[in-house]
Amino acid sequence: MGYGVDGWSIFCLPQSDGPVTRFESLGLSPPILRALDGVGYSVPTPIQEQAIPPLLEGRDLLGCAQTGTGKTAAFALPILQQILDHSTPGRPVIRSLVLCPTRELASQINQCFTDYARHMRCKSMVVFGGVSQRPQVNALRRGVDILVATPGRLLDLHEQGFIRLDNVEFLVLDEADRMLDMGFIHDLRKILKLLPRKRQNLLFSATLPKNIQSLASNLLHNPVRVEITPQATTVEAIEQRLMFVAKADKRRLLTHLIRELKPSRALVFSRTKHGANRIVKNLDRDGIEALAIHGNKSQGARERALRRFRSGDLSILVATDVASRGIDVSEISHVINLDLPNEPESYVHRIGRTGRAGQDGCAISFCSEDEGAYLASIEKTIRQEIEVVEDHPFHSDTAKAAKGRKSSKPQQSGRNRPNSRGRTNRGYRGRGGSKGPRR
Ligand code: AMP
Repeated sequence: MGYGVDGWSIFCLPQSDGPVTRFESLGLSPPILRALDGVGYSVPTPIQEQAIPPLLEGRDLLGCAQTGTGKTAAFALPILQQILDHSTPGRPVIRSLVLCPTRELASQINQCFTDYARHMRCKSMVVFGGVSQRPQVNALRRGVDILVATPGRLLDLHEQGFIRLDNVEFLVLDEADRMLDMGFIHDLRKILKLLPRKRQNLLFSATLPKNIQSLASNLLHNPVRVEITPQATTVEAIEQRLMFVAKADKRRLLTHLIRELKPSRALVFSRTKHGANRIVKNLDRDGIEALAIHGNKSQGARERALRRFRSGDLSILVATDVASRGIDVSEISHVINLDLPNEPESYVHRIGRTGRAGQDGCAISFCSEDEGAYLASIEKTIRQEIEVVEDHPFHSDTAKAAKGRKSSKPQQSGRNRPNSRGRTNRGYRGRGGSKGPRR
């Protein structure tokens, strides 16, 4: 079974039990197959199996899928195949435009195109804001076939005359829901007006709220629909725990947990950029090294933090929801929600960062007296009650009592009160109560 998030509900998608499909049978040419061999892909993921054949026929596509499903190759491979089939002589022109919300995701997508096009004459490049535009302009001058971009920088460069979009044959909107959440709708509308009318359109989104459905119905013509999320991201596969804590004690509970769990790689979520910085500062004061990634950090700082986290040199990374999208780091042992997200879907995305690729993962959420309503809507969405752990020094009955309450004012009671209850619940150290990171 695979599970996905569809609007506010969880649905199940049966996996086929038939013979294993191979990339060769999907209509891809030898240069691409050789590149796939080079990156170690032997069989297509379900989204690739379902999306590649109709995309090669030129169909539009609506993909409900998130990072981790193999969606990048699902759109990149058929685009490359079509570019290969209809190659044009001379200096390359932008034939495919891929738009996505964040710099990290844009870099990752561009890296995929580069890897998959290794044995073809096809150039891809990435443009995003927050860095000097000069190297981007120089590369654009040399000509590219595939441009991966965040919307703002793309428009900037277009307005300055460095980008022409009148040869675009393939348009991909990746993580469309995030782009709309981040306020890119006006930029998107402007960009759409710059494109030729005749083109193939692909829209990928982890969720399909009304604004995405309306964008899809304007953009896509008779699309095939593919809905998948990674098996490892099932909410059931991830061990979830909830801790009620006074808002003022969250910082100390986090330090306590990190000291207890000694996670190998923990991703700590904060609702705001400011909050993420504060968490890093507080941990630093407690002698725990952590780095934050969010939109206000320079590209270099974000990449450095990610590199260290990926290599295992840094064990605590603090992120906002937006920045965490597209982080492709496997073996995250713990996700800690210092703040509960105000959108229940974000909760599913957050906890899906752990327990990937069949590994065990543990997601611990803090809930303070002002977050009761968020908790109620998360539990409604995931259709389960998250197991509560009261056996920690900062348990707050006030926070617990606020569950489901619409808006409650922060209160102080419950603070600093060591919990005297016996160990009636399973604790937060993972199945079997083992101490230390879970792998
Ligand atoms: P994505 O959902 O595109 O971000 O891909 C998630 C991860 O899966 C990336 O690390 C990809 O390199 C990897 N991946 C994508 N397709 C395959 C495949 N067919 N076999 C093995 N790994 C894959």
